[in-house]
Amino acid sequence: MLLTILGGCGAWPGAGQACSGYLVEHDGFRLLVDPGYATVPRLLERVAADQVDAVFVTHGHPDHCADLNPLLRARALRADPPAPLPVYSLPGALDAVLALDRPGMLADAYVLREFTAGDRLDIGPFHAQTRLLPHSVPNSGVRLTAGDRVLVYTGDSGPSPDLVDLARGAHLLLAEATYADEVPEDSRRHLSSARQAGRQANEADARRLLLTHLQPGTDPAAAQAAAQAEYDGETGIATAGLVIDLS
Ligand SMILES: [Zn+2]
Repeated sequence: MLLTILGGCGAWPGAGQACSGYLVEHDGFRLLVDPGYATVPRLLERVAADQVDAVFVTHGHPDHCADLNPLLRARALRADPPAPLPVYSLPGALDAVLALDRPGMLADAYVLREFTAGDRLDIGPFHAQTRLLPHSVPNSGVRLTAGDRVLVYTGDSGPSPDLVDLARGAHLLLAEATYADEVPEDSRRHLSSARQAGRQANEADARRLLLTHLQPGTDPAAAQAAAQAEYDGETGIATAGLVIDLS
């Protein structure tokens, strides 16, 4: 399983950056997870729009799904459009982004496969176990298994035993860490710090931790140090262009 980081900014893309976006590949199948703001230009540096085989979206915040629109445009507005793109999301999560263009314009470009958090999905060679994790809108974390490798991605989530359970023994935990040490009071149930991500990686016995969704202004070095204070495993920051081979 190969993971390519397209972007790792939380909330909005910093200068020259992109928000959450992850290309996960196995056996030639390309799964795009969370096409957040500005991820499509980075995706297209690596693969053509018609080479994406499926999209999985954790939740409907635009920093996780806004670039579904340019991806669908890049597939639909050509002389020989590819087959409709399977797009997996929670019910209603993509209503806003799918309404950006005039009704029907992109209708043939995708097939929406809405699921309920807790469902288990088979997406190409990936088995996806989904789990509702606490956020300000419904958010599904996902445990992706291909071969004997396991990648767990939180989407956006406050600390939760469900997150620890989902991440149990994962080869890589890709964890939202909007802040380094302290989450502001009004977001504590819905977002995490790098310190909390480290603590949960430790509790889950994850083999490796990658911090993502750092809000611009959060110091990556401080975030990494905060996570490492709680977790002994290898810890990194999700930066655009980073490729991790989990095999
Ligand atoms: Zn969010």
